[in-house]
Amino acid sequence: MIAADLYLNKINFLKYLPQTDCQECGAVSCAEFVKQLKRRIRTPSACTFLTDRQIKGFHLALQGERILPQVPALELPRPATTGLVEINHPNDKSLVLLSGNSEFTQEVISSMMAYTLSSYWLLFVDCRGDTVDMAMIYESFKVEKIMAALKQLPVDLGREIVLPGFASPLKEPLEQEAECPVKVGPLCIAELPLFLGDDWEVPSDINLG
Ligand code: SF4
Repeated sequence: MIAADLYLNKINFLKYLPQTDCQECGAVSCAEFVKQLKRRIRTPSACTFLTDRQIKGFHLALQGERILPQVPALELPRPATTGLVEINHPNDKSLVLLSGNSEFTQEVISSMMAYTLSSYWLLFVDCRGDTVDMAMIYESFKVEKIMAALKQLPVDLGREIVLPGFASPLKEPLEQEAECPVKVGPLCIAELPLFLGDDWEVPSDINLG
């Protein structure tokens, strides 16, 4: 099987560090610290400026290869169900996470959701079963379809909508249509805990090594 690129090498670890190059962790710079994290020479807690949640987020992102399932690179769309999935009993204060309806995209996202206690509305938008990166090329992930999907929410939009990173060109048109703030998430789902920060709570019984 030729595995799909899950964009683990696109995780922007540096973005979540203070970037002061203070060297308190023993590395000469924050960029060097990231290299050492990837080589397993240091662990996230060596940066004493990170909160407990941030440390856990770093661990999850670093373990993306183990956490995420290998899925095949697609030549054809693989449509799965569209619609709303409630993660941990969301309410009107919960974020709305958007993605497409590729079967494999859903498999990968579901794996990541096992690592949070936080509540979300997870909305799989009809994009003909394309993965989001391909859906942006084929223009099958569209604002009109997102707006139609948002009608399924049983509550008023109280917080931001989070777009998949590849769908960043849709941010402004979606903000105009939905009349609510839209954040552009990461390219790799394993970065989501880092990206969401306080909005991602890791269960205490999960061993992050
Ligand atoms: S302790 Fe944190 S902020 Fe300071 S250099 Fe290391 S990674 Fe950067």
